[in-house]
Amino acid sequence: MKTGIVKDARYLEHITPDYHPENHHRLEVIYGMLNEGNMAGRFVEVVPRFATKEEIELIHTSDYVSRVAATADKPHTMLDPDTHTSPKSYDAAKLAVGGVLESIDRVIASEIDNSFALVRPPGHHAESNKGMGFCLFNNVAIGARYAIERHSLERILVVDWDLHHGNGTQNAFYDDPRVLYFSTHQFPYYPGTGGFDEIGRGKGGGFTVNVPLSGGQGDSDYIQIFKRILKPISLQFKPQLVLVSAGFDTYFRDPLGSMNVTPKGFARLTRLLLEIADRNCQGRIVFALEGGYNLEGLKESVKAVLKELRGDSTLTEEEMDVENVSSPSVDSVIDRVAGVHKGFWRFITV
Ligand SMILES: [Zn+2]
Repeated sequence: MKTGIVKDARYLEHITPDYHPENHHRLEVIYGMLNEGNMAGRFVEVVPRFATKEEIELIHTSDYVSRVAATADKPHTMLDPDTHTSPKSYDAAKLAVGGVLESIDRVIASEIDNSFALVRPPGHHAESNKGMGFCLFNNVAIGARYAIERHSLERILVVDWDLHHGNGTQNAFYDDPRVLYFSTHQFPYYPGTGGFDEIGRGKGGGFTVNVPLSGGQGDSDYIQIFKRILKPISLQFKPQLVLVSAGFDTYFRDPLGSMNVTPKGFARLTRLLLEIADRNCQGRIVFALEGGYNLEGLKESVKAVLKELRGDSTLTEEEMDVENVSSPSVDSVIDRVAGVHKGFWRFITV
């Protein structure tokens, strides 16, 4: 497989205060890992570009884009109590969007099979008119709308496995049946959205699928949720492109979360997403980095995902064959999601 990666030193120039978990060290450890012997030279470098104002305004209001633009060259500003800017943040944010857009272009052109945009700042909390939760522009939401506008796609699946609910992405497509937004997240927790009953509105009814989790869920729980909820819905929705808001703050030692996912778990979830992409859209899938604040976990988890994307799995046959059992609390979550969505989708074993 030809797997693209977006990496660029300019993403490190979005500087946040020393105490801030979303800092440049996150990408430094990931980029360092890419230079290790068994990783170097194995990926196609996708060179990011600055997204244009028009592209960013596919999701964001002109007023908000201007507000972020006005932070350029200012030593420090805050878009909300968690969301800081430095002189080069606006450039980094435009380049983060552009990294996702370039990945989409190259995957759709079949120049590469799949791609992982290793970018920051992250995006999924950014709303049309405001930045929040460490996010400036909504990289994945802009990517989804760009794929619709530029590539005339009609069905995009967005999978958001970040610890947090992607309120910005959900809101961008809440009444739009062309983008199916699926999210697993700790709940109740920041940002407060993502309850069972948030299922979309109007024509978008059923095209928002939230799986709120209490905390403590691990690999086998996530695998069961993906197999029993995401997979059957995806095979009925038939996406033409899959976008992944890949946050690694569900890692078992993440400082912000209380989930128990391991690098092998991320590898297995990636394998399931690849299967969904293979069965629907010639394997077209683009990952974009969201959260993840334990540096060792970030490095090992991204590495495990990249190996799966390349078809160079770290999973043994035995690990793939293990009969996973979810906890009873997760079984009841799965039942509840299926119940809320039974008017829209069939939950058969596929
Ligand atoms: Zn997060």
